[in-house]
Amino acid sequence: MVEEEVGDESRLRGRVLAILLVLAILGGVTTAMANFREANTCLDCGAGAAKNPEIQWLVNSSNTLLKAPEELTKEDLQKLYRKYNITENDIKFAEGKLPHYLEGTILSGKVATMGKVTKEGKIEDWTDPLFYNWCVKNSYKVIPAAKALEIEEKARKDYIRKYGVNPANPKVVIVNEIPLPKEYVRDLILSGKLTPEYTTLAVEDRCDPDASSRTGPWAVNDKLYLWIVEAKGDQKPVEAYLQDTVNAYARFYQFSPGTLYYYHLQDYWDASDVTPWDNSSKLLRDLAKDTGGLRDDYNDRDPTNDIVIGWVKFADHNGRADCNGFFSVAATSTYVWTWPHDSIAQHEISHNFNAGEGGTWPWENGYTECIMNYWYAFWGTDKWCTTHWNVVNGNINGYWE
Ligand SMILES: [Zn+2]
Repeated sequence: MVEEEVGDESRLRGRVLAILLVLAILGGVTTAMANFREANTCLDCGAGAAKNPEIQWLVNSSNTLLKAPEELTKEDLQKLYRKYNITENDIKFAEGKLPHYLEGTILSGKVATMGKVTKEGKIEDWTDPLFYNWCVKNSYKVIPAAKALEIEEKARKDYIRKYGVNPANPKVVIVNEIPLPKEYVRDLILSGKLTPEYTTLAVEDRCDPDASSRTGPWAVNDKLYLWIVEAKGDQKPVEAYLQDTVNAYARFYQFSPGTLYYYHLQDYWDASDVTPWDNSSKLLRDLAKDTGGLRDDYNDRDPTNDIVIGWVKFADHNGRADCNGFFSVAATSTYVWTWPHDSIAQHEISHNFNAGEGGTWPWENGYTECIMNYWYAFWGTDKWCTTHWNVVNGNINGYWE
């Protein structure tokens, strides 16, 4: 009997403690909410916007007001568009109903540029005479790299003025044929109401994160050449990706690879023979088949220091690359889980230097910010964790084990 009474008392104490704990958690959530709102105002600025993603995860998981796309009524949608300042043009852009942002500029159509990135992240002109000849023969306009980026930036600004849409970071994504604000889609994912179709690591080729291998690319002769190749036809990107790709590439200077050169080729790669058309594995194979010769024939004629990234408008993943391979595919848009363009480029190029996946969620990488982790890539990190940094460093410099 006595024992039972004691038991009751301790159960009561337990209940009080539980209530106190709930109150404490609620307090924490409220603070987190305030933090979230503060961070939320900066989300469009891309890289590094989220300082504390796990807090945002907590807050968004507790948000029960979100509706899955198929549950949204027309009225709900109008409310959402108002809330996130979505205009008719934002929707038209996502549906491909606005003109290309480079239309009417000298950068429209078959254009090639050659440039190099300096250690300070500046773009300088550089010409590969062999490739220049190819361009002339194949009717590609050659525009100096710095000039091209300047014109592109002006075109982006003009487009924003004219249509209110930023082609480098549009606000709307289409999910199950419904145009939705990007931020809302992100909250749906965080709340578990929308499962990104592809979040498992099994869908991407894995590699051994500890290995340095001489079979992949490396900075032979203290030089790297990145071929940025654009798809033509239906897969031609409508979003801006060049500046983002170059920004991501410049981050590889921390591995001291010598000099980073790049080529940009617009309206080049024919991905129309890929089936299913959005299959990133098939796109990757097609890219290797269609552009492999570029690596052999130009610059120092050594293919070992040439890598290729192919941009398409849409694929079933943000990107895909073979570990220790020479090719990667990047998509300006994908189902649901859309990363910033520079994150895609940094992540995929890292795979080329044999960096493996760092998990999907932050806890899978021990809460260490890393471009190889899907969660941190989604939030636009530009960092490598030590493990992946070492792998990229070893492979880029040819430190074989
Ligand atoms: Zn990956």
